[in-house]
Amino acid sequence: MIFEMHCHTRHGSACSYMTPEQLVAQAVKVGLDGVCITEHDTPWDRHATERLSEHFGILVIGGMEVSTEYGEVLVWGLHEPIFDMQDIHDLRRRVDRAGGVMVAAHPFRGAQSLVRWDPDAGIVPKLDQAVRLPIFKIVDGMEVFNGMAPDWELDLSSAVCDRLPIMGTGGSDAHNVDCVGDCVTVLENRVATEEDFYEEIKAGRYGAEHRLIGRRYPANGAKGPPAKR
Ligand SMILES: [Zn+2]
Ligand SMILES: [Zn+2]
Repeated sequence: MIFEMHCHTRHGSACSYMTPEQLVAQAVKVGLDGVCITEHDTPWDRHATERLSEHFGILVIGGMEVSTEYGEVLVWGLHEPIFDMQDIHDLRRRVDRAGGVMVAAHPFRGAQSLVRWDPDAGIVPKLDQAVRLPIFKIVDGMEVFNGMAPDWELDLSSAVCDRLPIMGTGGSDAHNVDCVGDCVTVLENRVATEEDFYEEIKAGRYGAEHRLIGRRYPANGAKGPPAKR
């Protein structure tokens, strides 16, 4: 099943240019089986996403993009609004109580200090430093493909995920209809409910695709055994 896991609508994100209906209609048009709406700090009422699911015939799941001291995190399972920057450990406890999941959003956005430029080799990641970011010990997964990320960020995310015991998702971070489905998460199993979806994400039974540039994660079909941390 092909899922868009990261996008914003005008319902809860002032930075977005599409309504929820435009988003889901576009998701259907580009062949997706499911879409997660992840507004900044604003939850979705489950009845509202269920109505969208029924109307458009694909699974619509409400998540949230929450700011923490370790960066932004995509969160599923919480249905109350968030007003301040969250303590990530507290957020983890609340998500666990709700049976939800957490994925590090674009974990290297703005993290140019974690790469260096070599005149011969080009951009060289500081992998040892990058894999030790504390957020990776707290989340269930990390976004390897974010539709707004430049190549060095995609490379760094993929290389880091290779070394971690968590899996990598894809999400376009779409704020307008043209970007919906640029990056997707491909689930191995069919899911019919939000709870099924959380189960598959927790278990890491998925891969990611960057459909704009034809790139997949894991690149060789399977992720290697995680290196010692
Ligand atoms: Zn973000
Ligand atoms: Zn976002």
